[in-house]
Amino acid sequence: MLTRVFYISEVAEGVTELDVQIVLGVAQVNNRRLDVTGMLAQSDGHFAQLLEGRSDVMRQLVARIATDQRHRSVPTLLQDAITTRQFPRWAMGLIRRDDMAQEMLELHRDGCEHNGQARWMIQQLMAFQPAEECVGPEAGRRDCRKST
Ligand code: FAD
Repeated sequence: MLTRVFYISEVAEGVTELDVQIVLGVAQVNNRRLDVTGMLAQSDGHFAQLLEGRSDVMRQLVARIATDQRHRSVPTLLQDAITTRQFPRWAMGLIRRDDMAQEMLELHRDGCEHNGQARWMIQQLMAFQPAEECVGPEAGRRDCRKST
């Protein structure tokens, strides 16, 4: 069974752009192996991540990510069964969304009672999927750009 998990966390103090690129590189290698796909968005203070994969794989992965010290306070805002992946081309994409900093802050603060808000944010992340595939060694070093 396929599951998707969405969370928002606070970026830990001292985490740099380089740290995030390292996270992305490791995530892409691992996720390809685990057949996990998704998107990581970053604002000034928060990460928002959508992960999709087999339920058993996702349980372990999300538990591992939640203990990572490069971020903190990692509540799962949405977890549901899916039949189709929303990010089938992305072992893990990265987008910078400073324009959504306030929404990320509020959703992180208010938590999962705002289910509709979480779904809305996932839609926002999906709008930034580029038209072309992003695979191979370049993928880890490239941000997603909004397709035109
Ligand atoms: P090891 O490299 O053996 O790490 C052991 C422990 O140290 C882990 O708890 C790890 O989280 C932590 N760690 C490793 N490097 C650092 C560092 N530089 N600074 C602080 N702590 C560190 N991994 C995925 O596989 N897929 C994902 O989609 C994914 N998304 C992530 C999203 C975010 C926002 C963050 C912060 C991390 C993400 N990770 C992801 C990384 C994940 O947390 C693990 O570091 C990674 O999966 C490797 O796990 P490991 O136990 O093999 O790591």
